[in-house]
Amino acid sequence: KPNSPSLENFWMPFTANRQFKAAPRLLASAEGMYYTDIDGNKVLDGTAGLWCVNVGHGRERIAQAVERQLRTLDFAPTFQMGHPIAFEFAEKLAAIAPGGPAAKLDRVFFTGSGSESVDTALKIAIAYQRAIGQGTRSRIIGREKGYHGVGFGGISVGGLVNNRRVFPQIPADHMRHTLNIERNAFSKGLPQHGIELAEDLERLVALHGAETIAAVIVEPMSGSAGVIMPPKGYLERLRAIADKHGILLIFDEVITGFGRLGTPFATDYFGVVPDLVTTAKGITNGAIPMGAVFASRKVYDGLMTGPENQIELFHGYTYSGHPVACAAGIATLEIYQEDGLLTRGAELAETWQDALHSLKGLPNVIDIRNLGIVGAIELAPRDGAPGARAYDIFVDCFQKGLLIRVTGDVIALSPPLIIEKDEIGKIVSILGDALKRAL
Ligand code: PMP
Repeated sequence: KPNSPSLENFWMPFTANRQFKAAPRLLASAEGMYYTDIDGNKVLDGTAGLWCVNVGHGRERIAQAVERQLRTLDFAPTFQMGHPIAFEFAEKLAAIAPGGPAAKLDRVFFTGSGSESVDTALKIAIAYQRAIGQGTRSRIIGREKGYHGVGFGGISVGGLVNNRRVFPQIPADHMRHTLNIERNAFSKGLPQHGIELAEDLERLVALHGAETIAAVIVEPMSGSAGVIMPPKGYLERLRAIADKHGILLIFDEVITGFGRLGTPFATDYFGVVPDLVTTAKGITNGAIPMGAVFASRKVYDGLMTGPENQIELFHGYTYSGHPVACAAGIATLEIYQEDGLLTRGAELAETWQDALHSLKGLPNVIDIRNLGIVGAIELAPRDGAPGARAYDIFVDCFQKGLLIRVTGDVIALSPPLIIEKDEIGKIVSILGDALKRAL
């Protein structure tokens, strides 16, 4: 096209380069529930961008807040100094912190992304253990199929082999415990199953010694591994085992934070309180890159005042508490609160569940999972070509005006939380037709 930019210089993240260059999909603008591509076609956003645009695209209030902040204070460091908007945002986040006031997860460390939040939480966990005189605790336990971003910290504790494939020598002192989740074990209600999976942590503790382990990190609901729900009792048991051995529990809520499950955080949904919570994405509605780690007072105070606290944690980013990101975050939080979006997922959950499960029985559909406003349709892989069928469906849906996300043979859905019932209907109608057409 004469007016299209060249695709040559942009190094696309992840691995879909070749497929993309064969059939580029270029998004030019967005409003509410819809993207518009460069040809003017409207595409219903079934994925909230990348699980982040929770209050919908193009919110005027966020745009204005960003513009105002840019003109007032575009940048200021938060090392040895601060600025009011960062304090204000931290205070507002503390007021909705995961687990409610009783959980006291109200010490907020700002980062620039989910991967940075993960790095930050891992470092805080190890530094805390040192500060309280547990300096031998340097290992982190991650989970099979866990996804914690693509920084070296995140892939060190992550359990998705693709992200680690070309880094076999990763030096981090970590281990992984198993959550080899059966499809839909959660909704099948297998309480024993959850307990057994969590008990695997006991096995690792016995093997390596509790005195070497600082923390265990899990996504309360696995997102990137294909939307996998935790079996009943699993998170509770993890919490109990971690407590027994002086191990911190970290929930990675980069996806589940900010209303995705119909509660402000997954911590609230499952009623299990970790020591640290990582967030990003929905914190600014995706408008400006940002993340935040919520730390418990126990962790914060231990780190600051523990007997060995002269071991200071030197950690912080140029963009920690970026004023413009904070402005976007405050505006986003006001929208969440005024429009009741942090709990809207609970109101819509039944409609959402019924809609998704109406796809049951369509060709190649082997499992349907849902929680809050998250959905997954798992497909039987095409013979000898894992992921190919799901990718074809992705392309078909896009052409028909629906953006979905595919990872392997799982179609993931996570639309903006402002979605209306007719738009839920549109998602399943376009997706259903694509499923019927797929070979
Ligand atoms: N943790 C989880 C659970 C995630 O889903 C993601 C991103 N999808 C990350 C961490 C990394 O976030 P980012 O891409 O912002 O670095």
